[in-house]
Order: sequence, then C-alpha cells, then structure tokens
Amino acid sequence: METILKKVDIDNIDKADFSDAASILRADGLVAFPTETVYGLGANALSPLAASKIYAAKGRPSDNPLIVHIADKKDIYELSNNVTDKAVALAKAFWPGPLTIILEKSEIVPMTTTGGLDTVAIRMPNHKVALKLIKEAGVYIAAPSANTSGKPSPTSAAHVYEDMNGRIDMIIDGGSGDIGLESTIVDLSDEVPMILRPGCITKEMLEEVIGTVEVDKAILGIDNSAKPKAPGMKYKHYAPKGELAIVEGDVAKVIAYINEKAAANEKEDLKTAVLATSENVFAYEADYVYDLGSRENEDAVARHLYAALRRCDELDMDYIYAESFENQAVGQAIMNRLIKAAGHNIIRL
Ligand code: AMP
Ligand code: MG
Repeated sequence: METILKKVDIDNIDKADFSDAASILRADGLVAFPTETVYGLGANALSPLAASKIYAAKGRPSDNPLIVHIADKKDIYELSNNVTDKAVALAKAFWPGPLTIILEKSEIVPMTTTGGLDTVAIRMPNHKVALKLIKEAGVYIAAPSANTSGKPSPTSAAHVYEDMNGRIDMIIDGGSGDIGLESTIVDLSDEVPMILRPGCITKEMLEEVIGTVEVDKAILGIDNSAKPKAPGMKYKHYAPKGELAIVEGDVAKVIAYINEKAAANEKEDLKTAVLATSENVFAYEADYVYDLGSRENEDAVARHLYAALRRCDELDMDYIYAESFENQAVGQAIMNRLIKAAGHNIIRL
C-alpha cells in the first residue's frame, strides 16, 4: 500500500485539506493525524472492519482497547447510555483536551473497538487538525498512538512515517503537538473515579472538579506484580532498542555513576546516551547527551521524552541512562512512561 503524505499548515487550515482523508476514513481506511498529545492512528470507531485494521497496522494485541475521539462534547451521549454527572463535569472542565474518560459503552460501539470490554474510552482532542478531520469525516475516530506496538509514541509525522509507511493510507503532517505524552485516562464506570494512566491533567486537577480520585496502583511502578486496569498498560511500551535504565538518587552520585558506566561501555566499544535535565547536561561525558529540558519545567520534559528515545535508536545507542523525576504531577506521567520504557530497570543509588 502506498502511504500518502499530506502536509497541513495549522495556522491556515482549509476544509478542502481534509476531503481525501475524510473519504478514506468513511471507506474504513487508516489515517494518521496530529493531536495535542501524540499522533493518532485513526479509523472509523463504529466499524469493526476499520478498527481491526488499526490492530493489524500497529501489531497491537486485540484485547487492548482504542480511545474514541469526538469533535463535539455532546457526542458522548451517543457513545454511552450512562453519562454520569462526574463525566459531564470533567468534559466541561477539560475538553477539548488531554483527558480520556471511560464510561459504560452504548450498543453502537463495537467490541472490536473496546477490546471486548463493556466500557468505552472517549476523548475530545484539543487540536485544530484533529477536530476538523473528525468533523469532515462525519464519523467518530478510534485512534491509538500511531506507533508500532511497543515502540515510543510518535510526536512528529516523521516518527509516524518510520513506523507506518506502507501500512496505512495517509499521514497528515501538522507539526508537533505541545504536550507530547498521551492523555490522562480516568475510569468513571466504577463508584470511585480512578486514573488508569497518568498524564498532564493531574489527580489534583481532577479532584478539584469531582472530588476524590484514586490512582491505579499498578501504574506507579511500585508494585510490579499488580495488574493494571487499562489493558494497554500491562504491555511493554515506549521501549527504545538500546537498554534503558533510570538512575535515581543524589544528583552528584547519579552523574558520577552514569559517567563511570559510559567510560566502561566505551572500553567495550558500546555507545552510551544520557537523557538529562538542562541543569545537568554539561556534567555528563557520554557519546550522546539529550537535553530533556529544565527540571523546573516538566511539561517540556514530557514534550521531549519520546523524541529523545527515538533519537537514541537512530544513533544506535547501546545503553541509555535517564535521570529520574518526582512521582507527582506531570513528573508522575513522565516516570510512568520511563519505567515502562525501561522495563522497570531502576538503579537506586
Ligand atoms: P493508546 O490509544 O495507544 O494511547 O492506548 C489507549 C490506552 O487506553 C490503552 O492503555 C488502553 O488499554 C486504554 N483503554 C482504552 N479503552 C479502555 C477501556 N474501556 N477500559 C480501560 N482502559 C482502556
Ligand atoms: Mg499507545
């Protein structure tokens, strides 16, 4: 299959830009598109055939449900017959935006889309291209991250091209979004709301709107054996090819440890990369040091994380050492992704 690349100027969006993409989606094809979080791999969410193509293109396990993207808040009433007051309050407060809400599904949502679950994950993205595309297509769009299953999520059209060229009908290039990490997922289908995946909308932000919110213990990386409630969170994910370790502890010790490892690796002819915060980049001696951004600005770190992991692969790094982050607010989302990318390989000094 030939993958069409379509560039869109997001400051100058024209309805006509989306007519081909909309036709592809209505005909059960696959179109990758930018959102404010990461690039999504879109297909008609209400068509089992279209949804099944997503799983095939990504190599995604079929029990890992897809998020359904909408362009109008009231669409939520079509996808669920049990829209709770809390769901309405969260949609009002955070949509369009990086929050996915899980509710009991209505009969129109096929089990192929929900990975066999009775619940459906719904999000209204805050991105002009995504919203316009959903509207023009006239269908709800199931869209997981547009990467090969297991790899870091794509934050640019080039990343999507690397993974999906020849496997999907079209890639819409609308530049990079400003968040860079996947949405926060909150499950409202049970009594107590529960965060199944941390993101840049934090527990505290949700609690301001709906009161007590719990966090699925399995996602915090503390208990390695706990089974996560979001099926996707149990799979290895975001992983670079090089061996990634998170190094935790006193800054000076972290720097000394990583530099020592880099020197030892060099003797073995192995290449070492460091994912560092701006405060420390100059202290490392390694083959490649990626500046993730300042510790004072975790949003920037979140935005750069996946590009950093992919860059290490492009440069064939054998070992990658990442600094660690506070397990709270956006730091919690960063640590959640890093821990999964590292396969729980954390070095505590
Ligand atoms: P992605 O689309 O790649 O960002 O992944 C979507 C994430 O949402 C995966 O971790 C899924 O397991 C999770 N998810 C989607 N739908 C549901 C649902 N109905 N219940 C629980 N988790 C869900
Ligand atoms: Mg994903």
